[in-house]
Amino acid sequence: MSRIVYVNGDYLPEEDAKISVFDRGFLFADGVYEVTSVLGGKLIDFEGHAKRLERSLSELDMPAPVTMDALLEIHRELVARNEVHEGLVYLQVTRGAADRDFAYPAEPKPSLVLFTQTKTLADAPVAKTGIKVISIEDQRWGRRDIKTVQLLYPSMGKMMAKAAGVDDAWMVEDGAVTEGTSNNAYIVTKAGTIVTRHLGNEILHGITRAAVLRFAREAQMAVEERSFTIEEAKDAAEAFITSASTFVMPVVELDGAQIGDGTPGPVATRLREIYLEESLKKAV
Ligand code: PLP
Repeated sequence: MSRIVYVNGDYLPEEDAKISVFDRGFLFADGVYEVTSVLGGKLIDFEGHAKRLERSLSELDMPAPVTMDALLEIHRELVARNEVHEGLVYLQVTRGAADRDFAYPAEPKPSLVLFTQTKTLADAPVAKTGIKVISIEDQRWGRRDIKTVQLLYPSMGKMMAKAAGVDDAWMVEDGAVTEGTSNNAYIVTKAGTIVTRHLGNEILHGITRAAVLRFAREAQMAVEERSFTIEEAKDAAEAFITSASTFVMPVVELDGAQIGDGTPGPVATRLREIYLEESLKKAV
């Protein structure tokens, strides 16, 4: 069976799913996206992703192609049609096809594409061992709070990590860690405080970040939203990342230095358990 993809109102076999060569997503990276995880056939934190999508669209003066209620129905229909028990739904909205011009078209017809990917997430083996990261300079644009499809620098970062024989890269700007190439970055101090970069234009406001910080505070864990350096991270008791597809993932090595005892720490391990448990309760 071919995977079924949603394109502008139609559910099509993937080989028939097409977008115009004049689409501004293709020509200008004039598009935004969301990735929502699926566990047990249900969507994790759909509302958070829908709200961030609305914000990304509004920051770029891009019209929403359908209502958020319609979007939920499309997500559910795709998950059902593709029989996704565990995996992801990828969604992309672009400003649509128009004659090539840097200025936005006066009457844009946004494109909407969604597809699914089946993937083992909750029991991903790497969660048991943790990941290794290197630090790289953050060379992205200044509005990282908007979830745009301009992902070339993060792709380059993943390739730098791959070339260094590790799993990912943490980006550094003005001496402080911003975030991972596709995730938010955290350390746990020796005193047990969870530290992650404060919100601003410099990082993506992760949906998983918001949930994990809420759960951590509810569990009486100390949380500080502030900048931290690579040196502080190397000296931390633990480190981890969060994203919709990795949930809470321990980081055990940074620039060749072992973090803590080089195995997933208790805080990251507990937060992963709490996140999975609590998010599943509200999955739709
Ligand atoms: N930061 C960046 C740069 C990302 O690309 C992502 C996810 O793609 C995240 C953080 C994590 O965001 P979320 O938890 O909403 O998946």
